[in-house]
Amino acid sequence: MAFSAIAKTKLRNGAPDRHVSSRWSSWYLIALKAAMGLLLILLVALFWVLFESEVEEQRTTLIADVLWLEQGINFHLEGNAEFLEQLSGELAQEKDSRSLFRQRAGYLLRNNPDVLQIMWLGPSGSVVDFEPAVKLPRLGVDGIGGERHALALEMSRKLGKPTYTDAYSTASGWQFEMYVPVFVDGKYDGSLVVVYSFNSLLKHLVPWWFAEKYQVRIVDEDGSVLASKMRAGSATTPINYAIPVDPPGYGIVLRVDAYRASGSFVEVLLTTLVIALAVAVLLSLWVMRRHIQRRLAAEQAYRAEYAFRKAMEDSLTVGMRARDRVGRITYVNPAFCHMVGFSEDELIGASPPMPFWAPEDQEKSRAINEAVISGHAPREGAEVRLMRKDGKRFDALVYEAPLIDADGLHTGWMASIVDVTERKRAEELARQQQEKLQFTSRLVTMGELASTLAHELNQPLAAITSYTAGCLNKIESGVFSPEELKAALEKLGVQAQRAGKIIRRVHDFVRKSEPKLAPCNLVEVIEDSIGLIESAARLAGVRIVREFPSVSGELMGDRVMLEQVLLNVMRNAIEAMGGVPSERRCLTLQLAQPDDQQVQIRVVDRGPGMPPEVLENLFTPFFTTKPHGMGMGLNICRSIIEFHRGRLWVEENPESGTVVVISLPVIQS
Ligand code: ADP
Ligand code: MG
Repeated sequence: MAFSAIAKTKLRNGAPDRHVSSRWSSWYLIALKAAMGLLLILLVALFWVLFESEVEEQRTTLIADVLWLEQGINFHLEGNAEFLEQLSGELAQEKDSRSLFRQRAGYLLRNNPDVLQIMWLGPSGSVVDFEPAVKLPRLGVDGIGGERHALALEMSRKLGKPTYTDAYSTASGWQFEMYVPVFVDGKYDGSLVVVYSFNSLLKHLVPWWFAEKYQVRIVDEDGSVLASKMRAGSATTPINYAIPVDPPGYGIVLRVDAYRASGSFVEVLLTTLVIALAVAVLLSLWVMRRHIQRRLAAEQAYRAEYAFRKAMEDSLTVGMRARDRVGRITYVNPAFCHMVGFSEDELIGASPPMPFWAPEDQEKSRAINEAVISGHAPREGAEVRLMRKDGKRFDALVYEAPLIDADGLHTGWMASIVDVTERKRAEELARQQQEKLQFTSRLVTMGELASTLAHELNQPLAAITSYTAGCLNKIESGVFSPEELKAALEKLGVQAQRAGKIIRRVHDFVRKSEPKLAPCNLVEVIEDSIGLIESAARLAGVRIVREFPSVSGELMGDRVMLEQVLLNVMRNAIEAMGGVPSERRCLTLQLAQPDDQQVQIRVVDRGPGMPPEVLENLFTPFFTTKPHGMGMGLNICRSIIEFHRGRLWVEENPESGTVVVISLPVIQS
């Protein structure tokens, strides 16, 4: 029952309809998913656009760089050609042309590592001089005299300007040659030949930063690589550009491929972060989805639980009321509202003194309230008089228990309130009926006793009559002594007293009175009871034996009620011995004190005893085995003894018969 009143109020007032809530949740989830999907698409698109523009930019840069390099090569070759043309002119005029050649060739070689050799050929094609003075692998078998060599020589002579050969392969790589004709006074006078190495050309002309960014190759028209400058172990991208190199021409192409950029640290970091964040967002979305699903399930379960509790609570006839720690009401159930006649709104928030406390019981209610708040609520509940809104009073039994919330904190008190007015009335009615029944049973006993009492009364009355007659005779005869008369009158008085005592006993016995506990002596009670039953016992031929050791037998009790018990039990014993041989018909009354708390009366008969089915039903109202029995005797006896806070039970007499044991508490001194 310890559910939070606040949560309950929220649910009731806020009315979060189950469908609205779950619809909201699912819409929210769908929107979240769509937003995430869109975000991912945009992210991918952004990456793609960035990548594309970067590629485009790279391509543009590459083309510009390649054009620049091609131009560089062009300048270089043409510069060399010009240098040689100039040299050819000077050679024609110079006397010591050989040393000039050596000097200029040396200069060219020093400044151009791509130039392998410079040769001076005579008009017939024979070598005049060459620098450096080594034999190089050349065109054809030995170079000079080869077909392409002759062709180039011829071409340069005819055109009168520098001419290039196509590329040819040697053991140390691909090479090509440039022929510059030498004319002396317009007449052909030989040629200057420069041997270039493609590899050295690239090595010399491609700067380091270019080689860092690009793979550079020189490729002929068949696609075979003539020379290359590349970084070991670096992969290239599809971004490339090829441009013909002329000179030397012949379909030779400069081909440049961009290397895959390793990417800057920041770029990599950013990309990694963005990807990691996207993954994290996706993950959190997934977790969120699970969380929402769990929450929905929990809400559903909570609602089911709430509905269950509410149904239970509404069906309760017991009033429930929760209060916080200072005593303010935080919750009431419908049964409580119905009980006190106030509405829930009137009760929530009310603090002591409560509107339903009856003014005449105000003090008691306040004391109970304080006891509860200080943590001393009576475990067995407290009975108070409460007042309905219309002023009608009712008795209620209130049980209080601490209210512990979900965190284990003590937040207040929960009370269950039972209207006991009806119960009390029923109890009172039952008590009155029981009393009436006792009285009736007394009357029945009385009726049974009446004949024997009449017989009993006969004796003293007859004695009184005869004494009176005797006295009258004496007076009439005139012969009498006052002593004689006195003695007779005294006897008469004793008999009259005896008769009066009998009548008073009967009167006492029959008089209906509320049970009154007063100090009384058990021995006297037993004697009085025997006095009432004596004649009946005599008629039935039953001897009554008293076994009273020195037991004081002082106790608090209602004399008449205890007599009624003893009479009943003794009558049962006498009736039980109706069928046994006359010598066995003996009723023994024993008085014993087993400890200083209690005193016991044992009524022992020598009858047939009780069969189990009788034992089982002994105290059932109206159970009897006698044709005219009422079956209320033992039941009433036990109630009376229990009223005296004692016990009544039955034991078996070992010498056959029954022992009825009555135990009563003695007065504690
Ligand atoms: P009633 O005497 O009107 O029958 P009781 O309540 O006094 O009603 O006794 C109930 C029944 O218990 C009797 O009918 C009898 O069968 C049995 N009973 C009571 N006392 C004795 C006894 N001393 N010996 C045997 N049976 C007994
Ligand atoms: Mg009886």
